[in-house]
Amino acid sequence: MGARLIDGKALAQRIRERIAKDVVELHAKTGVRPGLAAILVGDDPASHLYVKNKQKACDAVGIYVDEHKLPASTSQADLLSLIDQKNADPKIHGILVQLPLPKHIDSKVVLDAVSPQKDADGFHPYNFGRLVEGNPIFEACTPKGVIKMIESTGVLIEGKRAVVLGRSNIVGKPVALMLLHRHATVTICHSKTRDLPAVCREAEILVVAIGRAKFVTADMVREGALVIDVGVNRLADGTFVGDVDFDSVSQKAGWISPVPGGVGPMTIAMLLDNTLESAKRFAGVL
Ligand code: NAP
Repeated sequence: MGARLIDGKALAQRIRERIAKDVVELHAKTGVRPGLAAILVGDDPASHLYVKNKQKACDAVGIYVDEHKLPASTSQADLLSLIDQKNADPKIHGILVQLPLPKHIDSKVVLDAVSPQKDADGFHPYNFGRLVEGNPIFEACTPKGVIKMIESTGVLIEGKRAVVLGRSNIVGKPVALMLLHRHATVTICHSKTRDLPAVCREAEILVVAIGRAKFVTADMVREGALVIDVGVNRLADGTFVGDVDFDSVSQKAGWISPVPGGVGPMTIAMLLDNTLESAKRFAGVL
């Protein structure tokens, strides 16, 4: 492997240690302990696992978790009423609604009901709009984690040619905006992009978030590029791989993030960070 590894797991661990110290300090100074409401509707095993992992991560850094596991039959009205309660609860600084929600519930209506001041996932249109302005309150966790990973390498973003592969509202678009605000020259690609390999080859920084196993191969990557792989794809044998063909691309890239152990752990660390920052804002110390 020629490329240097961007170890998201190790970076996330260092960030969690810093958060744990900040939580103690905030509590000592202001009496405020950061609190996250985690709301889960239905029986999806993957969602239960995600929420359990987030709860464990919160426990480890001293963030209080107020967990609500609701049956799949929960009405949209009841869910909205719970969100209203959490919006008004002074012990809660972040609200996480685990997706996907059951089909009879309109996820957009539910996510829009979360107070923008407690939108720890950064999915609310208000926070997305502020990101477009370049003045965000909450930044979505996965894109924020991607930027921290790039910054951890010491590679300057300013002036670089960056290509973001994928244009979803939760990853591709916010990553592209964050790179733009850090003065990269950014191209966003998607399923209708013509001659995708040629566009990707222009990238000094390439962020891939499409959900296609090992889609990006070495011939699509510029020599020495910094490559961040956001994709998580489950193969038939039960193993997980990214959107980047790690074995070939790591021979050509200058930096590369692995899957697993890359963006995934950073996403959880950024949820903790967003909850802590929100608690600091509520306590008037940020
Ligand atoms: P998404 O909403 O499905 O969006 C996928 C994007 O990729 C779309 O913009 C789509 O283009 C584009 N795309 C799909 N196939 C393509 C192709 N063959 N060529 C060019 N573009 C293509 O996905 P997402 O939510 O952004 O997630 C992307 C990946 O990241 C998934 O594997 C997901 O599991 C992973 N993810 C990981 C984390 C984490 O914490 N590690 C968090 C979030 C997501 P169109 O817009 O034209 O359809």
